Amino acid sequence: MTLTLIYSFLAGFSELFGLLGYHAWSVLGKVAGESSSILNISVLLGVLNGLLLFVVRNKVNVAKPMHYFGYGLVSVAISILLDYFGLIPGLRIGGFIFLLFAAVLYLQNGSFEELSKSPVLWLVIACLAPLVYVPVGLILLSLVQFEFKKSRQLLLNFALFQMPLSILAVVNEMLSFEVIEAVDAVSVALAYLSACLGVYVAFFGILKFISIRRSDILKQLLTGLGCFVLFVTSRYGDVTKDLKSYALNFSSMGTICELTIWATNKSDAERILLKSRELMDSIEERLSTYKPKSELSILNKTAHLKPVACEPVLWENLQLAKAAYEVSNGAFDVTIGPLVKLWGVKRKRSELPSKDEIAAAKELVGFSKLIIDEENRTVKFPKEGFKIDFGALTKGWAVDKIAGYLAQESISQGLINLGGNIYCLAEAPPKKDSYKIGIKNPLKPEKLHMTVGLLGQGVATSGNYEQFTMIDGKRFTHIIDPRTGYPVNTADGVSVIYPSAAWCDILSTAIFVEGEPLIEELIKTYRSLNIWLVKKPESGEVINKTYGELWRDLPNPPLE
Ligand code: AMP
Ligand code: MG
Repeated sequence: MTLTLIYSFLAGFSELFGLLGYHAWSVLGKVAGESSSILNISVLLGVLNGLLLFVVRNKVNVAKPMHYFGYGLVSVAISILLDYFGLIPGLRIGGFIFLLFAAVLYLQNGSFEELSKSPVLWLVIACLAPLVYVPVGLILLSLVQFEFKKSRQLLLNFALFQMPLSILAVVNEMLSFEVIEAVDAVSVALAYLSACLGVYVAFFGILKFISIRRSDILKQLLTGLGCFVLFVTSRYGDVTKDLKSYALNFSSMGTICELTIWATNKSDAERILLKSRELMDSIEERLSTYKPKSELSILNKTAHLKPVACEPVLWENLQLAKAAYEVSNGAFDVTIGPLVKLWGVKRKRSELPSKDEIAAAKELVGFSKLIIDEENRTVKFPKEGFKIDFGALTKGWAVDKIAGYLAQESISQGLINLGGNIYCLAEAPPKKDSYKIGIKNPLKPEKLHMTVGLLGQGVATSGNYEQFTMIDGKRFTHIIDPRTGYPVNTADGVSVIYPSAAWCDILSTAIFVEGEPLIEELIKTYRSLNIWLVKKPESGEVINKTYGELWRDLPNPPLE
């Protein structure tokens, strides 16, 4: 019992000062703003907690420590309940509001004693302040007003308040219940203890050293300062607390999708990952050319007969395909299908298609030949045999969609990888400064050539090492120049890094066809474009070129 009491006392003490240190640390380390959903949750939490606090307000007596033990028990029960419903992250956010009220009251009355007397004020405070902040706030206020005797009493009360939570944390740790991850007070408390003791000693030490007179003005200033610090810092604190990574891998669009996000709440994270998967599946349902009933398959079957109306997903992809066709001077063409098919079939038999076969397939290719009605959002093919295949852009587009959805859910740390179409969210994972993405050497694909550190950017690579056939000792890739009808021989690998995964996907393919002339054109307009081009000619030196800001400080060693 004594040991537990000592432990609880330490935990409570460190929690109190740790809170300040922790918040300050969070603010220093974090530039991005807090998320609105977390704030909403915290308001709801505050209201729930507060209503209870209002009910028990007359029964909680500052002078009766055991009341705090009971109070702590109730707090734990509520925490478990809230955790069960996935509402834990905002537990502490309302604290600054409590302190603001306390400050106003102090400035009015010259004492925070009033706090426990006014029922109306209790109700307001109670509705806004999560449980833990009431004892913490009282202790803080008594400290900044140099009422050390009262602080000691309150601190003991707080330790008792904290005790049920600490016991739960210890039991939880020992039995790995995982019932309530967010109140793992043990590790948090011990980690903060040493650092924050230092801050405490330094703060009061300095005050003593310069022996400032404890005037009322000083007290008021310190009260204000304390409130301000918590006001600013508490808005950031919980966002980084207990941040964990959650991942989901599944197959989609004929490849593997790997999603990783960092979140504070397990059930939220799981819900978000599942929803992302549903989103990916719904895109595949519409745009797959392998599913005979997909919207795109039906369009491909019927668009030579009459104009076919496009639903938003298909229409957006078509608009993107049009932009890609224009930007690439026709090198990137989603109507390439008949040529891809011809070369595919022939490659299986290890023979080259004849000139006539190529000419016939070319007749059925050409984005500019599509009859697109922008107003009614319809497409018509000029003749039977035309096909649209978004294979070279939809994966990137879907990755952007998922990134957009994650932003809606206020997830700012994460990585999406759909078969090599990668997007890194804008904020680095905990304790890292960026996402490290390895890029293969296209001449020796079993080897990584370099690692790039990215934030808020996508990566895509088009290479001839994954899909190709050898015919008569020559390598034929799966990417075809729609204007010649032949597989291209411009590059062996093109990696593109850019803030949109869709454009990474498009441009890696387009540059694979067009090579350096297109790069020269693009980098003039697209400032944040980064490109790595590799080509091993039949004779002579390997071309290994990088373009863009990224490579200003990133070494690109020579290729073997
Ligand atoms: P990626 O792996 O993103 O470079 O895309 C390659 C796929 O795009 C191939 O499997 C073809 O289906 C398709 N494709 C081939 N050539 C082109 C082209 N010139 N324009 C658009 N898509 C193409
Ligand atoms: Mg591509």
